[in-house]
Amino acid sequence: MEAKKIDHIGIAVFDLEHAKRFYEESFGLAVEHEETLGEMKIAFVPVGRVNIELIQPTSKEGVIARFIAKRGEGIHHIAYEVDDVGATLERLKAQGVKLLDETPRAGAHGKQVAFLHPKSCFGVLTELVSKKDN
Ligand code: ZN
Repeated sequence: MEAKKIDHIGIAVFDLEHAKRFYEESFGLAVEHEETLGEMKIAFVPVGRVNIELIQPTSKEGVIARFIAKRGEGIHHIAYEVDDVGATLERLKAQGVKLLDETPRAGAHGKQVAFLHPKSCFGVLTELVSKKDN
């Protein structure tokens, strides 16, 4: 697998406005991009070449709400940038890596993304993100 860099670290939060203020006021960082994606409100906070992806659930049934209910706020996933999410998924599947997404889907910024099962990634929910917007 040709991971290029860590694209972002996803952090599940109760209150996006509170979290944004914390990163802005405490770390001097600025929110670059916000969007609503399914049952999540997301804000991207760039730190050098990596982003912090703050994720607030907008429904009690979504995966982020269930994550917070179970474990509290905290690191939810790590996302690696790859050239081609689909080709990487095929290669990983052939290597026996457990996938949560068999095919790429649209993620934040309209980029192609896919998730790998934490059981295959040392307990870390792992996301693949394409380099370019699709
Ligand atoms: Zn992510």
